[in-house]
Amino acid sequence: MLKLGCGMLEKLLSADSGFRGTRVPCGQGHEAEFISYRDKVIDTVLGPVTLNRAWCNRAWYHCAACGCGLAPRDGELGVDGVSMSPGLAAMNDRAAAAGPFAEAAGLLADLAGVRLTVKRVERAAEASGTAVAAAGRDRAALITARRLVPLPPSPLPDKLYAAIDGTGVPVTAKESAGRQGKGEDGRARTLEVKLAVFFTQDKLDAKGYPVRDRGSSSYIASFEPAHVFADLVKAEGICRGAGHVRQLPILGDGAA
Ligand SMILES: [Zn+2]
Repeated sequence: MLKLGCGMLEKLLSADSGFRGTRVPCGQGHEAEFISYRDKVIDTVLGPVTLNRAWCNRAWYHCAACGCGLAPRDGELGVDGVSMSPGLAAMNDRAAAAGPFAEAAGLLADLAGVRLTVKRVERAAEASGTAVAAAGRDRAALITARRLVPLPPSPLPDKLYAAIDGTGVPVTAKESAGRQGKGEDGRARTLEVKLAVFFTQDKLDAKGYPVRDRGSSSYIASFEPAHVFADLVKAEGICRGAGHVRQLPILGDGAA
């Protein structure tokens, strides 16, 4: 079934030559010139698909000013600079987030019939993670600067709780390079991951203790420095209605 689907997808994609005229904008304010048609293999949920020169379906342009080449079709298909379809990349992200990269590669092979090297699983997942983290930081910056104003939650809780802490995570020497550690050799063996959670607990149990509302927790985790983390926490607080609730208790150890 996958093979059939893959063949159909390849034919479907070949219906568009990717030719967008003799010149296209390069993205940096110049014009790139049409050169020829070039192959590219992309891995998809259905298997590897070739955008093939023989079918003339991946027009390639070159910008003399930038000295770089581009295929407008790649951008349209969401595979600019990568060789994994957006659908497969999303699947890969889920598998890679669930455990070690080698296991993720095994999961993709067993469950989806897609074979990727462990290195590709790692590279694609790390790229997605980096992009998601960057998008989160950008969004937090807009919210804390009040340039993006989220609507307060409805109904509004009486109290919104926040708990904040950090803890050391063991890492390899490569990952802790350049960081001062507490060990005798001065090498850091851990990185501090900072964590925060926002939640509500408006109801009491039979003994009169507050019970955390199911599904009310939103988490933030980051290896970024404290000031970046602070912005992420502040933005999440604003989204959760911190500026509108009657009380905002913050549970922390007093660390700056
Ligand atoms: Zn250019």
